[in-house]
Amino acid sequence: MSARRSDPDLVVLRPQGLYCPAGDFFIDPWRAVERAVITHAHADHARGGHGHYLAARSGVGVLHARLGPVSAQALEYGEVITHSGVKVSLHPAGHVLGSAQVRIEHGGSVWVVSGDYKTAGVREGSGEADPTCAAFEPVFCDVFVTESTFGLPIYRWPAQAEVLAEINAWWAGNAQNRRASVLFAYSFGKAQRILAGLDPAIGPILCHGAVENINRTYRQAGVILPHTLHYEEQRGAREVPEAAQALVLAPPSAQGSPWLRRFGSYSDGFASGWMQLRGARRRQALDRGFVLSDHADWPGLLWAIEQSQAQRVIVTHGQSAPLVRWLREAGLAAQAFETEFGDEEAAEVVEAPAATAPTSVG
Ligand SMILES: [Zn+2]
Ligand SMILES: [Zn+2]
Repeated sequence: MSARRSDPDLVVLRPQGLYCPAGDFFIDPWRAVERAVITHAHADHARGGHGHYLAARSGVGVLHARLGPVSAQALEYGEVITHSGVKVSLHPAGHVLGSAQVRIEHGGSVWVVSGDYKTAGVREGSGEADPTCAAFEPVFCDVFVTESTFGLPIYRWPAQAEVLAEINAWWAGNAQNRRASVLFAYSFGKAQRILAGLDPAIGPILCHGAVENINRTYRQAGVILPHTLHYEEQRGAREVPEAAQALVLAPPSAQGSPWLRRFGSYSDGFASGWMQLRGARRRQALDRGFVLSDHADWPGLLWAIEQSQAQRVIVTHGQSAPLVRWLREAGLAAQAFETEFGDEEAAEVVEAPAATAPTSVG
């Protein structure tokens, strides 16, 4: 790779989103466009209304579950297509099922747009890989376009096995005291990662419709999850008899909702990277906070950037300023793009309508 100063940028910022001028397509655009390459199906990266979608094959099921029957072309990881002379391929990002980094090659230079990613199971000392999606794969490039959701040195994740053991122990303790365990987790990705690590011998696992909806697409994609029971909103406020032994997985939007009454007395917890912040759990009056994130922590971000061997880095969302500053001090050309990507892990985020409509998908 020999990016020269004169090489035109392969990705620029347009009002509609990240745009590749050479190939005339967008990546995760926030306004409706003709051609969209989608890194993953979280609501802020995969929006409705585009003419054509291109996504990793394992992510197309979730894309359809969230957006309905959109026109989507599926690409295997590593498979290269050429569009208007631009080579495009998708590579695992380790974030959620079907998440991809987009590699773009044209005129002798290579750009990679990371989307959201995590490095668990790949970077030394990062613990185990997420069993519900393909692990992150570093891709060499001249310019790396990266997220920075947790781009501060305070963010360092404990190993996944450790956190799952904590969750199982909390659940077992509650079950012994005949109290339900209500765990809030983002319904797409986080919930399934937790499910895959739960010990079903402790008791039944009950899922909110928004979670069960996504569980179905994971199972269809071949991801092994333990048996779950689906509890619809329509069932009325009658108490669920087996709830005292149960682990209830619900989206953050269910916090404080009448839906929870049926579980009687319960202990509640929240699984998110934000739980590493002192006070995040207390502010929401939760019994427990579990530090589990589907994004790279600070060492993960730096590692991924180093592995890419890029000499230029563009930061798209999250804690952009601290990461840009750090990279510049390390001698890299770094800048930020003002994007409209959000953070699906923030507790304040209200779930996208498609994910909170359990009745439409049964
Ligand atoms: Zn995401
Ligand atoms: Zn994101």
